[in-house]
Amino acid sequence: MPPKMRTKVGILTVSDRCYKGEEEDNSGRNLKQLVEDHNGLGGEVVMSEVVPDEVPKIKEKLVEWVNAKVDLILTTGGTGFAHRDVTPEATKQVLEKEAPGLALAMLMGSLKVTHFAMLSRPVCGIRGSTLIINLPGSPKGSKECYEFVLPALPHAIHLLQGETSKTDATHRQLAGQDATHHHQHGGDTTDQAHHHHHDDHHGHHDIDKVARRPRQSPYPMLSFEEAYQKVMENAAVLQQETIACNDAMNRILACDVTADYPLPPFKASIKDGYAVITSDGIGVRKVLSDSTAGAMPKSEVIPGYTIRITTGAPVPQGADAVVQVEDTELVKETDGGQTELEVKIVVAPKVGQDIRPIGCDIKKGQTILKKGTQLGPSELGLLASVGVTKVAVLKSPTVAVVSTGNELCEPHQQLRPGHIFDSNRTTLLSVLKEHGYKTLDMGIAKDSPENLQKLLKEAVGKADVVITSGGVSMGEKDLLKYALMIGMHAKIHFGRVFLKPGKPTTFATMEMEDSSKKLFFALPGNPVSAIVCFNLFVLPALRKMKGYSKPELTRVKAKLLSDIKLDPRPEFHRSILTWQPGESVPVATSTGNQMSSRLLSMCEANALLALPPKSDDVVTIKAGEMVDAIIIARI
Ligand code: AMP
Ligand code: MG
Repeated sequence: MPPKMRTKVGILTVSDRCYKGEEEDNSGRNLKQLVEDHNGLGGEVVMSEVVPDEVPKIKEKLVEWVNAKVDLILTTGGTGFAHRDVTPEATKQVLEKEAPGLALAMLMGSLKVTHFAMLSRPVCGIRGSTLIINLPGSPKGSKECYEFVLPALPHAIHLLQGETSKTDATHRQLAGQDATHHHQHGGDTTDQAHHHHHDDHHGHHDIDKVARRPRQSPYPMLSFEEAYQKVMENAAVLQQETIACNDAMNRILACDVTADYPLPPFKASIKDGYAVITSDGIGVRKVLSDSTAGAMPKSEVIPGYTIRITTGAPVPQGADAVVQVEDTELVKETDGGQTELEVKIVVAPKVGQDIRPIGCDIKKGQTILKKGTQLGPSELGLLASVGVTKVAVLKSPTVAVVSTGNELCEPHQQLRPGHIFDSNRTTLLSVLKEHGYKTLDMGIAKDSPENLQKLLKEAVGKADVVITSGGVSMGEKDLLKYALMIGMHAKIHFGRVFLKPGKPTTFATMEMEDSSKKLFFALPGNPVSAIVCFNLFVLPALRKMKGYSKPELTRVKAKLLSDIKLDPRPEFHRSILTWQPGESVPVATSTGNQMSSRLLSMCEANALLALPPKSDDVVTIKAGEMVDAIIIARI
């Protein structure tokens, strides 16, 4: 963007020590970086100076910069209780209007960090068309306070630059004339970004004026790795909840689980045979009674006697070993052979033989599963084995899915002229269900700012994560970024990624009052791009939120079956991995034409080959070469 369109900022460091050169102006330098950060204000520091803690010197600079039409002045230092701290006093003397809301926002924010914030005395306000803000002197304090007021700055500055009033505020905002999204729109430093926005002083276009839309995306192009990292930084593990084990499949334990019961809860026989007293040795025994699974034996074994026993049945009192049937002979039976009266033990038993003592598998009080374990069939079975019916697990995110586009029609409806069936919602809801996430089907949003905003608001009220498809590329109806920024006041972390398919993939977050964060993934409308980018970005984020310690998808090496031509962008090529007998690595077969509208290329795909971009030296990867494959299906 040409420099004149960027917010002009002056940074005034107020410090005797910095002025005398006894200390470095770290806060001033740090603030410059923050101000110029493309993900923040995207401003330009046009003035910066260090003055001593003296009212006349401070006032002089402030007035000079206001006259030089600086949009925003940040002072740092001199806001505390020391005798020399006079920045607020000097500021007050030059202000025409105070803006106590900004000071309040900084104090409220800082008080959450430290009680000493009570001793900060910032003054904020307006002189001419310049906004002046007092920040504390420390690098940490000034950064924090700057960030507390940052969300309101673009709009405040824009208002000071003389916004004429219009009746329909929403429309005005969505028409892109509101500076709220200035800082998020700024930031493309590539040459191409310098050619657009001719008529537009703030880097925005009027969305009603299609002809004047920017002809290059104003969003910086991130690499896949950068974009992935931004997503993962913003995906936070959810809180815990206690639920029935029956509903806990695939959840992650929030606490260790200990056994309330030992297993086995009684001395249990390992074999079908006879409970004996070892010291009786080999020889004939009278058979007293029996012990079968599911009841405690009624009698106890005494010398010269035995009790018949089944596998898993309680070993009777008195017995110290079980002799398996195979090591006995029948001596005497009842008439008709209903039961034995006497048996002969032919192999001398050892103490404890074929008996599982109490707690042999699991001791009472033993930790059976550690916090962080994912509950699969065996883990749930283990819990059942010690009578655990409820577990504390991490919450699993609820995901809302919205399709956008005037051309979309429900698959069960009659197809109207110029329409297509909405397939993305089916794909996305299904893949979410496959991975066990709770889903909300939010239907189709028309390509109007109002409609998008309404559905997004509703979705964010009910879900932790909102996935939309469509409306993020360069068409005049691609309103999603506007709706997110202006309608939802969400922070857009990226709006373009250097990959194929899915270049316009957009990621935004919204901070809630309880300081939780909602995630928005605005996926491209092309069906293949949508599902590929779901796997690349959304799924790992969901896995992290759910508590996976390794949320990234599994990568393996695979051998290419046939040549693949490389794309100028890094490509995630749909393919089918198969494990051939005798081969130590899987073989990757391409699913054919990779055009991003061709959903057939996703059919049967179980992996995305992470192919490098084409270079001067390498234009093709040859059959037999090894490539990275990201597993996207159950193998
Ligand atoms: P968009 O990103 O909105 O420009 O959409 C790009 C392409 O994807 C267009 O051809 C759309 O018609 C198509 N498309 C968008 N949403 C869907 C959907 N939900 N199901 C199928 N195709 C879609
Ligand atoms: Mg569309």
